[in-house]
Amino acid sequence: MDFDRDIPAEIKDVALKALSFYPKLKDVRIEFIFNENLWKSVMQAQPKFVTMFSSRKKRTYIIKISHWFDFKGKRMPIQDLPEDVLVGWIGHELGHIMDYSKKSNWSLILFGIGYLTSKSFVISAERVADTYAVNHGLGEYILATKDFILHQAGMSDAYIEKIKRLYLPPEEIIYLMENILVEEDG
Ligand SMILES: [Zn+2]
Repeated sequence: MDFDRDIPAEIKDVALKALSFYPKLKDVRIEFIFNENLWKSVMQAQPKFVTMFSSRKKRTYIIKISHWFDFKGKRMPIQDLPEDVLVGWIGHELGHIMDYSKKSNWSLILFGIGYLTSKSFVISAERVADTYAVNHGLGEYILATKDFILHQAGMSDAYIEKIKRLYLPPEEIIYLMENILVEEDG
């Protein structure tokens, strides 16, 4: 690692573990930030807006992470989730950053608009993020995260329905794992 990562101590180990699967992100600036007001989501990756008007190399990304997780109706600190689940969750967000890192500033802005306005756009963006994660060896972790969300965490029916509508099901992850892309463009 060429520079110190900006990661809260509580999740530093799992974040570094997830990052270790993405050698290409070694020199990419990513800030991990606890956020108390993530609207209906647990983690969220985005480019840092103020850095979107300089060169792509200087662009910084933010992963916002909810400090608390509602586990079967009980508030618990996010770092108390099982390690594999957190590595998979962060690994998925890093998949988004891989995707963003290949986009120009303009296509990122269009991406942001598409994500906010079109359901099919969200579905394809989530598929891309999971595909990056699986192709970087995180398949088992992504499965752990999905199993946790769908079957263990006692999430609300509305949340689970949303996940089922917008995210790849576990069977598709297994399919991707069996058909991993070895080569990848720079
Ligand atoms: Zn996502």
